[in-house]
Amino acid sequence: MKKLTNKAILGSIIFSSSLNNIYLEKNALLVIGPNGKISDLIKRNEDRYHNEVRKYRYSQSLVEIKGHQYLLPGFTDLHIHAPQWPQLGKALDIPLEKWLQKYTFPLEAKFKDENFAHFVYEDLVRSLLRAGTTTAVYFGTIHQRATQILAEKCIKFGQRAVVGKVVMDNHSQCPDYYRDSSTRDALDDTETFTKFVEELQKNNEGKIYAAITPRFIPSCTNEALYELGKLAKQSNVFVQTHCSESDWEHQHVLDRCGKTDTEALQEFGLLKKSTILAHGNFLSEQDMDIIKAQQANIAHCPLSNFFFSDAVFPLRRALRKGLSIGLGTDIAGGPSCSVLDTAKNTIFASRALESGVNPFVQREGRGLSNSRVSFKEAFYLATKGGAQVLSIPAGSFEKDFYFDAILIDTEVEHSRISLDKFIDSDEDMIQKLIMLSSRSNIVETWVGAVSV
Ligand SMILES: [Zn+2]
Repeated sequence: MKKLTNKAILGSIIFSSSLNNIYLEKNALLVIGPNGKISDLIKRNEDRYHNEVRKYRYSQSLVEIKGHQYLLPGFTDLHIHAPQWPQLGKALDIPLEKWLQKYTFPLEAKFKDENFAHFVYEDLVRSLLRAGTTTAVYFGTIHQRATQILAEKCIKFGQRAVVGKVVMDNHSQCPDYYRDSSTRDALDDTETFTKFVEELQKNNEGKIYAAITPRFIPSCTNEALYELGKLAKQSNVFVQTHCSESDWEHQHVLDRCGKTDTEALQEFGLLKKSTILAHGNFLSEQDMDIIKAQQANIAHCPLSNFFFSDAVFPLRRALRKGLSIGLGTDIAGGPSCSVLDTAKNTIFASRALESGVNPFVQREGRGLSNSRVSFKEAFYLATKGGAQVLSIPAGSFEKDFYFDAILIDTEVEHSRISLDKFIDSDEDMIQKLIMLSSRSNIVETWVGAVSV
């Protein structure tokens, strides 16, 4: 199934159109237009269904999915550190501020070498596509050329992506061997990179976007942050950064700026509709109000939070506030590259927050009540929710959405999925597919109806 433009797909599809809705449509007919977008979804109970199926079958443009296979929307990963790919699964033993200096900055500094960038980024983009990440939001490094190579790899292998050259110009926090040579150079490089991506966009509509990327407030000078804010105002590119991630980081900003990350970012002009704030574990009610008023977004990174954030993000509270949220793996702070794993970890983290984890504290005081999220909500955030953050019509099987999808096969060798059509309701089946699918069950991935 290489290219599905101008074809109709017949089979079982699962998708979510809003936070609390999830559907399993068996033997649905999904029609794909020449632009790689869904032009029609025809369900079994519609009068026109049989005629339409016949029409596509006679014109030999019908693609049938097997009974033990399910089409799901592709995933959006809102927070990835591309250069940390070689570090995935290790170096998880020390706090964030030490981890950056001991492991992460030395690794990221290696991307001065373009050959190393080619080697790592090629493997990263291909691996994430195989894991079902059809849209990826990447931090690069401080290096102009290496970050361009990352954008080129996304185009080459067909992944939808947002990419940013990282700004780190603060002498007191960034080591000599890994720091922008000056604030001016950091700003010029950001502009050059944005223009480079604009050129790439000319032949790749809807595929590649640039992001203004101050690593986080500690690594940047106020001057750089103000100037990046101005740049953000003048252009319509994305902005990505970390926000109130850990005790150390949150306190550093309070001490330096006399205000929270959110308040400071707003003052720097960096909070807007296209802003993605990673983590947000220590957001106050007032911070959330500011983020909502500015229409900025949050990348929830549950696995990484367990290792580096000293707290669980209050997702339920943020959803209740009506904030725009998607999920992030935070490679390599989180030791998994899978957004499907991240969706599961979202459920686990919310349950840990709700029940509490310290057995020496009495039951009543142990957790934060009403914090859990359901598998439906986690799935929505992994698919349509994440794409909505980026204003990209993807992550669902709705009309005029890109056909960005994965095919789950429940009968691959060593599959852990056991579905029973006599015992399992449709909702049971959906939940089992979300909870039990692994990388090996994903047998094909499409972006814009092209197999990647
Ligand atoms: Zn991060």
